[in-house]
Order: sequence, then C-alpha cells, then structure tokens
Amino acid sequence: MTLGRRVRHARATAGLTLDRLGEQVDAAPSLLSLIENGRREPKLSLLRSIAAALGLSLNELLDPEPPSRRAALEIALDRAQRGPLFAGLGLPAVKPSQKLATPVLEQLVGLHDELARRAEEAIATPEEARRANTELRLERQARDNYFPQFEQLAEELVRGAGYAGGALTHRTVAVLAERLGFTILHVNDLPRSARTVTDLRNGRIYLPPASVPGGHGLRSLALQAIAHRVLEHERPRSYAEFLRQRVEITYFAAACLVPQSEAVPFLEERKREKDLAVEDFRDAFGVTHEAAAMRLTNLATVKLGIPLHFLRVGDDGALFRGYENDGLRLPQDPTGAIEGQLVCRRWAAREAFDRRDVATEYYQYTDTPTGTYWCSTQTGSGGTGSFSITVGVPYAHAKWFRGRDTRVRRTSTCPDPACCSRPAPELAERWSGAAWPSARMHQQVLAALPRGAFPGVDDAEVYAFLERHAP
Ligand SMILES: [Zn+2]
Repeated sequence: MTLGRRVRHARATAGLTLDRLGEQVDAAPSLLSLIENGRREPKLSLLRSIAAALGLSLNELLDPEPPSRRAALEIALDRAQRGPLFAGLGLPAVKPSQKLATPVLEQLVGLHDELARRAEEAIATPEEARRANTELRLERQARDNYFPQFEQLAEELVRGAGYAGGALTHRTVAVLAERLGFTILHVNDLPRSARTVTDLRNGRIYLPPASVPGGHGLRSLALQAIAHRVLEHERPRSYAEFLRQRVEITYFAAACLVPQSEAVPFLEERKREKDLAVEDFRDAFGVTHEAAAMRLTNLATVKLGIPLHFLRVGDDGALFRGYENDGLRLPQDPTGAIEGQLVCRRWAAREAFDRRDVATEYYQYTDTPTGTYWCSTQTGSGGTGSFSITVGVPYAHAKWFRGRDTRVRRTSTCPDPACCSRPAPELAERWSGAAWPSARMHQQVLAALPRGAFPGVDDAEVYAFLERHAP
C-alpha cells in the first residue's frame, strides 16, 4: 500500500499520467493503477523501470514512510478496514481513493483510531485490573521482591549526585534531576488528576508546593517522575503495563531514598544485635513507616535471609496493600486479588487499632493455620482515615527483632468463618431480622482505565497546565 502511494505521489510530482508512465515502462495503465492502489505487487524488473522513469532510486521507492500526510491517511484507512474490529461491524468499506475528500478521510481515520482505543480500554475492566495486579504481586513474590537492576541504577545515580549516607536530602534529589537534564519546580496549580507533571520539551518536573505537610513524600514523587525517564518508560497501553510502571518507579524511588549499600550494612548490624526494628530503619533514612516497611520487603529475604510479610490495613479491616513470601495466608477474592479483602480481626494489623499508646510499635504473636508469626504494627492516620502498617515474620525469625519478648499472643483460624467473621450465635439470634444497616460505598481499589492518554489523568488539563507554565 505504501509502495503504491509512493509511486502515485512520484508520478504526480513528475507530472505524468498513467498512460504516459505506461508507455515509458512498457506496462498497461490498468496494471499501474492496480499497483498504485495496493492491489497488485509489481515484479522487481517493472519496479526498476518505474523508479528509473520517475527519476528515483529503487530504495527511495521502497521507503516504508508514506510520501505525504494524505497518503498516510489513505494507508491508515485501508489498514483499519482490513482489521478484525471493522470486520465485526458489518459495514461497507470505503475505497481510500483520490476522490475521497481529505476532511472525510481525516474523520474516518480519526473514528477508526478512537474505535481501536475504546476497544483496548474496554479490556481494562476492574476484574482485569485486579488480575493484572495479582499477577504482578505473585511475580514480585517469586523474586523475593528484589530487583537488582533497579538497585544498581539507583545506587549509581544517587552516588553520582553526591549522596554519602543517611537520609537522601532534597538537595541531592535536585542535583540528581539536574544531571539528567531536569529542573524541579514546585507549583500551586498542578492538575488535580496528576501527582506530578514532567515537561519533556523544557526539561522540567512540576511538583506540589514544597511546604505541604509530610514534605519528605516530595523526594519520592520527584524520584518517581525521574524514574519514568531513567527506566525509559513508554506511554502505558494497558492497565497491566500501567501497574508495572508504577511498581518499577516506586521501587526505583525507594532504592534511591534507602540505597542498599547503606541499608544492608545497617540492617545486618541490627540483626547481629538482635535489635531489628522498622521504626529505627525508618528514622535512619528519614522515610515514612510504610516506605521503610516496604523497603524491608526488598532487602530482608535476599540480603538477611528473613522471609516476611507486609500489610497496610485500614481501620475498617480492609487490606489496602499486601505482600508475603513467608506463607501467611492473605485473604483473597476468587480472582486471587487481595486488595479490599478483610483481614482477620485477631491479626496484629487489626488488634493494634484498639490500644491506647499509638506512638510506638505494637508487637504480637499470632497462631495461624500456616504457623505462628511474630508481627510488629504501627498505626497512623492519613487522608483516607486511620491505617496500620505491619511487618511480620515466621516464629523462627522473631529472634532478630526488638519486641520478640512480647507476651501478647492470639489465635487466628481464618478463613474459617468461625474465627472472627461469623457473629456470636446469641447475638445473631437476637438481632437478625431487626437490623438494617446502610452500607458505606467502598472506594474502588482498582478502577477501569479511564479516558485520556494517561490512565487516570485528565490530559486536557495537563496540557493546559504545561502551556501555562512553559518558559
Ligand atoms: Zn479471623
């Protein structure tokens, strides 16, 4: 098709009719017409003659690029009409001939593009999204949540920016960005659907105002924005790809904030002292409790030989984020997804909400059907209410941790409904039929891929924003 369009374009440029070119190359004008419309493949000898008659080399004629915008549109329409999507519509095809007005052609191709995009979008139902998320979690679990290539990249970049240990400063993050050709700017009017926006043309990364509470989250945001470039991400074409990129940028940012060359010796020493604690790890690197706990899942198994689990649980008992490679049975839905599932009331992740002292970690042993675990839980509150962050290990590994001497011990037999999910029989008898609660709508943990070029982001808003701020 492209070849045909190139022949026609070159012939028109040379001011030759089909008849006239036919005479020069000794071929019937009807055959040339078929070739130009992509309906016939010319023999190489004829192609050579055509090229010579039009004053082109064979290579120029075989260039895979369409010769003009118009030709590109004709090719796009032809391709779309040959595809399965169009075939399924049962509509007559339109010949992309020269008679078709360019605006009509533009519109048809635009509609075909939109049709293809919507078909792709429809694949990302919440169920598909949950499956994709589960697949990613199992993949991370199989690698003990350790990705050496991101570790190495992060290490090189932070060291190159002058990092020499301890917490990574905002200044070092700015230098790191500069070395990659980016300036970090804080603005008050970021599009509400975006966490950060990067201006690739002018090399700028826009972040929320530096004064927002919990400002240390900004380093992570900046590093995640940088990560998209460093890891050479393309625009995500599916929800699975979107999630994978999220996992990768989060990992990269964590590996920058807590570089393994500093973190591993720190953790090894605390292990030797039998005084491992997430809170100390958090404070040594100036990150949130959740970030420290998640970072521990990257390093504990591969570097310290400790299998573990991580849970972020809301005060309603729903699992927001989870990871395990220690055999703990996380609650799952039929697709294998864990997000939004209720965890056992007897687990430390929920028991911790009931105690008075919330400033320090809460420790608990829990006997479960897959063994006894020691867990350390810290509660906190954020924009979406209270939550708890838990790091737990099998009983045999409790000895490395501060808080192993706790006397608190619970028994959980979940998913057995008799454990904690079934109401007490006497209460059920008294109240069944007399209770009518109104459910609170749960926030969709994983929504379908929304409209726009980037999942979940209003791109019109983003472009207007960039326009406003461009130098
Ligand atoms: Zn239970």
